Amino acid sequence: MSVPQFYPWQVETAREWLGAQQRERFAHAWLIHGLAGIGKVEFARAAAAALLCESPQGGLACGVCSACTWYGSGNHPDFRRIRPEAVALAEGVLEDALDGDMEEPAEAGKAASKRAPSKEIRIEQIRSVESWVNTGTHRGGLRVVVLYPAETLNTISANGLLKVLEEPPPHTVFLLVSDAPDRLLPTLVSRCRRLPLATPPANVALPWLEARGVKDAAAQLAAVGGAPVAAARRIEADLPVRADWLDTLAQALARGQAPDTGALVDTLDKVPAPEWIDALQRWCTDLALLQAGAPVRYFPSLAEPLARVAARASRHAVADMARWLTRQRMIATHPLNAKLFAHDAMLRVTAACLKAA
Ligand SMILES: [Zn+2]
Repeated sequence: MSVPQFYPWQVETAREWLGAQQRERFAHAWLIHGLAGIGKVEFARAAAAALLCESPQGGLACGVCSACTWYGSGNHPDFRRIRPEAVALAEGVLEDALDGDMEEPAEAGKAASKRAPSKEIRIEQIRSVESWVNTGTHRGGLRVVVLYPAETLNTISANGLLKVLEEPPPHTVFLLVSDAPDRLLPTLVSRCRRLPLATPPANVALPWLEARGVKDAAAQLAAVGGAPVAAARRIEADLPVRADWLDTLAQALARGQAPDTGALVDTLDKVPAPEWIDALQRWCTDLALLQAGAPVRYFPSLAEPLARVAARASRHAVADMARWLTRQRMIATHPLNAKLFAHDAMLRVTAACLKAA
């Protein structure tokens, strides 16, 4: 198994970041942030490999030393990743076929059989890493913890992590990854150096998608706000460019009719809430653009029904809807009742879009 690589749009940033600093002076905690779906977790994992590598080349992992071999086989004793059980399980489905896991997939599985897998990073995970970082490193170099998504730390685990970072353990680098750093505990953020990752320009993202055999790459990329990894995942998972539910919703509203809310809610119940909220936010942006006389940005294939929706909907109601979605996005990782939440959202969209201008 080879060590994880940086995506082409990350290599320059990685070289500047990793190559310019001496390992022993490397800051002990970093917050890697940027748009969802641009490959931030992959960046952190490739960075971990580089930091653990025993003979880095221009800051990046050499791929052949013993540390790289250990890392590549999923067995480096000085590497840990922390993510919610639900994320670990979702990754396991993909990774089991591809490579080994770095730690305790069996434990995550066992826990999950007793109760629903946690969507949060739990304090037990932080405590386990805390005792681990307080022992010597196995290979005498750095020890690296990759934690994602950092916004899934709950109040207790975030405070637990803060305590660890306040007295940074020696030779240890924490790489926190987040789509939404504004949702993190500010005191935790203040303990980290920030490393913003840019969304790659289309002239880099499109050839990358095309090289993977993606047809209609420009439309795929637009539908996910320019995030190439998100676009590639949708295609690998055989998901259409835009979800069918958006099409159903747009077609009904374009005819001036309320959509079949029950059927839409059943569909949304199977999609992670942040994902459908993001899609609806882009949808609202497209409506607002049309209402301002501009072309759509995200859903060119829905331009025609959206134009009819935009002509009918009140601008005020669309703006209200967009604000409501932004607020919901803040809490979307833990809706109390996902179905009720989706139902509420569908009713609000319908009301906003059928309200006379
Ligand atoms: Zn190496």
